[in-house]
Amino acid sequence: MRTGVSAALALVLYGSAARAQDRTTEAGEAAIKDPTAECVGYTYAPVASALANFPPLTPGVFVSSLLPGDSAGKAKFQAMSAGIPNIAPKNGSAGYPPADPDCWWTVSQCVVPKLAGLKPDVAFVPEPKTLGYGFDDGPACGHNVFYDYLAANKQKATFFYIGKNVLNYPLEAQRAVADGHEICVHTYSHPPMTTLSNEAAFGELWYGIQAIKLVTGVTPTCWRPPQGDVDDRIRYIATQLGLENVLWQFDSFDWESGTNGVTPADVQANYDHLIGNATAGRFNNVGAIMLTHELNNFTMQTAIDNYKKITGAFDHVVPIAVAQNRTQPYAETNFTMPNFAQYVAGTRTGGPPSASSTTSAGSGSSNGGAGSSGSSSSSGKATQASGKGAACGLHVPGGLVATAALLASGLMLLA
Ligand SMILES: [Zn+2]
Repeated sequence: MRTGVSAALALVLYGSAARAQDRTTEAGEAAIKDPTAECVGYTYAPVASALANFPPLTPGVFVSSLLPGDSAGKAKFQAMSAGIPNIAPKNGSAGYPPADPDCWWTVSQCVVPKLAGLKPDVAFVPEPKTLGYGFDDGPACGHNVFYDYLAANKQKATFFYIGKNVLNYPLEAQRAVADGHEICVHTYSHPPMTTLSNEAAFGELWYGIQAIKLVTGVTPTCWRPPQGDVDDRIRYIATQLGLENVLWQFDSFDWESGTNGVTPADVQANYDHLIGNATAGRFNNVGAIMLTHELNNFTMQTAIDNYKKITGAFDHVVPIAVAQNRTQPYAETNFTMPNFAQYVAGTRTGGPPSASSTTSAGSGSSNGGAGSSGSSSSSGKATQASGKGAACGLHVPGGLVATAALLASGLMLLA
């Protein structure tokens, strides 16, 4: 009986606390400090009323085709279809030519496309002694602690958002823009892109972009392929959507901690490897990008735990667009971010989009892929698709081949 009374009292108190939360605005949601409370689902009317325009939010189900009523998507896809290179969807690496005709990063870490007209991938940043600071797989439902930490340190970053996560946690996505971070797209449902049909690959990018635009008002001009799984067919489709491909040279493997034998100590060793390289002067001529994640409390806390060491080892830690001097990171040309000189001088925010924002797809990409000579063979550090699994691991096409290739080239595999 006594227990029943206590439970009832607890429910009343909990209900009271829940009612005190404002889960209808970005600022209200950002005020929730308990990750568990923040992770409780909520309904955001602008998303709820638009869900019919998006593929189902079912976890693990990838986009297979454009929605029947999506005339804009179909027109865009139709317009680019004739130019998409005739490269078959990948189904494992067996039989794939060693010459790597498709510049398939998964098996070769190729970042300079073989297809004419495509820009090199961004695998590092041009500014010396600089880290292009980015995180994949958000928005995470419990990210306020992490974003609070970044805000307290006046630190901006690049967030590679998954479309479904944006629709599930729209107020969390809005916080990235409100806080002055950069948003890139990380597909709609995180598939291995090279395995998809042309239309499905287009759809994964298209609906990811549409989700970000619906929720935040901005249209990203950069993307990162899940697991780094990209070839020239996928690059072409992304390019036609105004997206620049951003990869990495260093992998923290933070996403994999607790699985496949990867321990927190392994992840820390990977952070320490990057920090050690910075301290040793490795980035005195060109900066770095490391794959890290917003994925869960562990990955975010690990980022917090390493922040002071990173900012101590690098002269500058900046969003990737800032390191590229890309001051218009979105198709909405009136939205600006500071350039590199402004950022390091202390100007950390640009201008937000206005209600009358205009779009110009693909605008603002003034960078040249951060140095076209960039090949991971200069990194001395193998990254993805090793025996520890590929980044953001769902599927590892060609993982064994990649491992063999890395070993053959003398690159050091991660611990
Ligand atoms: Zn990912």
